[in-house]
Amino acid sequence: FFNAYPEGYPVPGKTTVYDATETIDLDTVPLNGGFLLKTLELSIDPYMRGRMRPLNKTMYAAPYEIGQVIPSFGVGVVLRSENSKVKVGNHIYGLLEHRQYVVRKDLEGLQVLVNPSNLPWSAFIGVLGMPGRTAFMAWKEYSSGRRCGETVFVSAGAGPVGSLVIQLAKLDGLKVIASAGSDEKVQFMKDIGTDVAFNYKTTKTADVLEKEGPIDIYWDNVGGETLEAAIDASRINARFIECGMISAYNSGHTFPIHNFGQIIGKSLTFHGFIVDRLREKWEEEFYKTVPPLVASGQIKFKEDMYNGLESVGDAILAVQKGTNKAKVVIHVADE
Ligand code: NDP
Repeated sequence: FFNAYPEGYPVPGKTTVYDATETIDLDTVPLNGGFLLKTLELSIDPYMRGRMRPLNKTMYAAPYEIGQVIPSFGVGVVLRSENSKVKVGNHIYGLLEHRQYVVRKDLEGLQVLVNPSNLPWSAFIGVLGMPGRTAFMAWKEYSSGRRCGETVFVSAGAGPVGSLVIQLAKLDGLKVIASAGSDEKVQFMKDIGTDVAFNYKTTKTADVLEKEGPIDIYWDNVGGETLEAAIDASRINARFIECGMISAYNSGHTFPIHNFGQIIGKSLTFHGFIVDRLREKWEEEFYKTVPPLVASGQIKFKEDMYNGLESVGDAILAVQKGTNKAKVVIHVADE
């Protein structure tokens, strides 16, 4: 559960606390017309840090309350049901509280998953879940234009959002430059087709962009100095897809950009977005397009599995610090 608002990085065991005392009788817990889920997989995402902020003016999701059992996106399987829309054995995706078992009244905010290709359920919190939607929907909505032959730069390219953006950009015929913070992540970005993959901790982003740019599109996952380097390396009429600014999530959440004046001289377009606002327009196409590409292996994904609810605090910190190896998944239970 959420225990204390952090200063700086979240502290496992202090910001969030694992409480193993809760018990539930699976056969008798009252459902009151609802259903009982067994939690299988939970997602740990960067935006969760924004919810650990009491006066949350810049973020879109409400702050966690002290003592609240943390919710995050997850997949559970239905063990019992008194709801006619939900069958035993259905797999459900949506915001789930971090518990082994969850009782829900109805499907509000949740969806029943279909999985004809028998993909691992964890894929539905990454490439086929909220991060995958983010990449697909905003890429479709904002990358438009000449595309083929253009150059895109993607930061945090080894995560679930960045790695899908890279692969969609390659399918569209762009040259892709992408950065990440470890050599293992750089290798993964090469494996999924990135033309120029580099470790921003050992190579200066500005130098790479000067050599390999100019860029037509920047997919921004990090903000800060990386965004400034992208502005310097952008072509006239370049598009900036402002997805996230994780470099400031743990340091006061302010985003000074020193060369922002170039937005006028270079006629730059900045598209900030929240994925939920794109869902109505793009959800159908997302589910028609991405699961088959994943099932056929044309789109690849990588996961970094943590075991059990007791690992949530460490996993949250790893995502914020970048010590994660890929999309962070909490494996709570086998089916
Ligand atoms: P990742 O799994 O890629 O995790 C975040 C990564 O950010 C870390 O692994 C780390 O990788 C990198 N990072 C951390 N600190 C810094 C830093 N100071 N400078 C540069 N990179 C840093 O995350 P996701 O793919 O899930 O999400 C990517 C971005 O998309 C996030 O900013 C997130 O907030 C945003 N997002 C936005 C949504 C929207 O609706 N607008 C929806 C979903 C996600 P590295 O090793 O490369 O440093």
